[in-house]
Amino acid sequence: MKCFDCPRNCGVDRSLQVGFCGEKENIKIAKIIENFRWEEPCISGDKGALAIFFSGCSLRCEFCQNYEISHKSVGKEYTSGEFYKLLTSYDLNRFSCIDLITPSHFSSQILNALQGKKFPIPIVWNSSGYEKPEMIEKLAEVVDVFMPDFKYFSKELAKKYSRAEDYFFWASKSIVKMKEEKPFNIFNKDGILQSGLLIRHLVLPGSVLDSIKILDFIKQNIQEPIISLMSQFTPYNNSSIKRKLYPLEYKTVVAHAEKLGLNNGYVQDFDSADENFIPDF
Ligand code: SF4
Repeated sequence: MKCFDCPRNCGVDRSLQVGFCGEKENIKIAKIIENFRWEEPCISGDKGALAIFFSGCSLRCEFCQNYEISHKSVGKEYTSGEFYKLLTSYDLNRFSCIDLITPSHFSSQILNALQGKKFPIPIVWNSSGYEKPEMIEKLAEVVDVFMPDFKYFSKELAKKYSRAEDYFFWASKSIVKMKEEKPFNIFNKDGILQSGLLIRHLVLPGSVLDSIKILDFIKQNIQEPIISLMSQFTPYNNSSIKRKLYPLEYKTVVAHAEKLGLNNGYVQDFDSADENFIPDF
């Protein structure tokens, strides 16, 4: 079947060839980390997540921290049935959630695997935000928590860093759809998000104005958002951005969020910009 699952609209038959995401029809997983504690506290909690890192990516940012898996497609293949069996082979009560990391290019396959199934812990959709609202609507049946990045406002930046000039068009619509599907942020007694939306934004060096426009959009379009502002940008591999974020750049963005009253969420410690935070694949 031809693939139009994400805004790239490759239209390729993934049983025969790969599209922009670099992946054929089987789900491919690069790495699984148990009790993964590097996500926000309402996602990781004390137990840590069962983190599933999918191979390939439909966005493929040039500065990707997970470059080895997003661009080089290493990993092991699973059919949808095998993927479900894999998840249920774990004692899921040992984890805070199932953290599906960069899953969008396997949306149809994950839907097939999880539709109609119940899990004792939340399914977290940890995505780039470059998705289609109609797919988000379908995914809401199996996903409990949407956790998208909201990367760029500007077409120029999106084109330069991710070859996706239409990033904001799709991400803004998809994130609004995620909020429609999960309108309330519901936490359990341990403070773990059971249902809802958490929007991440990584502040890029030299792009403070873009971050401000993203925050303005969130303020105007998303009721009571949980936002995670991140400062961890690290120049990596082929990145054309050759420096880390300046403290003043981050402070400016954080101050703007405060001015807008976007206080519900997380502000990353500035010293998180370190290669130690990049998982080894
Ligand atoms: S999921 Fe992959 S093949 Fe399908 S449209 Fe997106 S990039 Fe292309």
